[in-house]
Amino acid sequence: MLVLVINSGSSSLKYQVRDVAAGIVLTEGLIEKIGVGNGGDGDGEIEGPRDHAEALEQVDAAIHAELGDPELAAVGHRVVHGGERFAKPVLIDNEITRAIERLNPLAPLHNPANVLGIRAISKKWPDLPQVAVFDTAFHRTLPEYAWRYAVPDELYTNHGIRRYGFHGTSHEYVTHRAAALLDLPVDEFDGVIAHLGNGASVTAILGGHSVDTSMGFTPLEGLVMGTRSGDLDPSILVFLGRNGWTPEDIDTMLNRESGLMGLAGNNDMRSVVEASEGGDAKAAMALAVTSYRLAKYIGSYHVAVGGAKALVFTAGIGENSHQFRALVTDRLRALGIELDAGLNRQRSREPRVISTAASVIPVLVVPTDEERAIAEATSAVVHSSIAP
Ligand code: ADP
Repeated sequence: MLVLVINSGSSSLKYQVRDVAAGIVLTEGLIEKIGVGNGGDGDGEIEGPRDHAEALEQVDAAIHAELGDPELAAVGHRVVHGGERFAKPVLIDNEITRAIERLNPLAPLHNPANVLGIRAISKKWPDLPQVAVFDTAFHRTLPEYAWRYAVPDELYTNHGIRRYGFHGTSHEYVTHRAAALLDLPVDEFDGVIAHLGNGASVTAILGGHSVDTSMGFTPLEGLVMGTRSGDLDPSILVFLGRNGWTPEDIDTMLNRESGLMGLAGNNDMRSVVEASEGGDAKAAMALAVTSYRLAKYIGSYHVAVGGAKALVFTAGIGENSHQFRALVTDRLRALGIELDAGLNRQRSREPRVISTAASVIPVLVVPTDEERAIAEATSAVVHSSIAP
């Protein structure tokens, strides 16, 4: 079964064609600068496709150039916000599209782009089944005491202000792979998963389900990230507002100018590690703040799950930066965690254990693959929808 996986951003569209049974990518690409420039009208520079429909024409042309005339069975969309309604992937119809659109206020940069992508495909290939796979869905199992903010109830009931959590597709996929690596049925897996990419979040898993996660109402809460601040005292925002900062100023500062970027002037972990090793004090402090904050979260999630059976690192930094993994786990000695320095430094694309035999719980590195998870979920939804 061939599935087209689509990840639409406001001005970009990432795609993969995957063979689900074989677990392989047949072709992939990225269309950028959608809606930037004039799309070819007039005599100005052509920057990119005019809209998502035109971007899709480019995807179609690229797929044909690579694969001839492949028989696509379905399209799987990464949808960022599924609100309180969506706890699992769903087959898309008009009502579902409108429901995703109604969540636009909660994810103003992401959900509108998802809806544009879905509508463009419905128009171009009306008979092709489409499935929405939500970043928030895996976290619908959070208990209320974990998703509530301690603010007046009206903020939740009238505005939907609560913790939703993100990166769910990755956390779920990695949960299954980590359980398999430990030879445990997934419903016996209790652990802590650290997804550390440009965006970063950590999730507490109990019996294979998410019971707490560090991102909240938006993907800004929680860990120190590439350009995002993570947790801070909300009074800082009030203070800045009183000093003339607009909501846009504050949004830009917290989402684009903070995190590693704010502390070290660079949002790329590899560069920050190199700078620190070269004696740059700001880079060293950025690593200390980032690793300390993550270690505190891991400690608290160890409590949340009543004793984790494993700690798992994934995504760009988690899979590749042995230096950052060492900084974090050095702070976890109180939990009896001990890395094997040699195993930690080994490079591999396979899921693996990097702790010593004496470590009280194993530390794992498990590569994530959100597109693969989306393709598999899409295939499963389509098959169950046509089953008698
Ligand atoms: P995204 O959230 O955009 O998918 P990724 O999961 O690709 O992000 O992670 C990007 C981060 O991974 C960057 O900070 C990058 O520096 C880091 N990274 C990638 N490869 C390495 C490496 N070999 N060593 C250290 N950090 C790495």
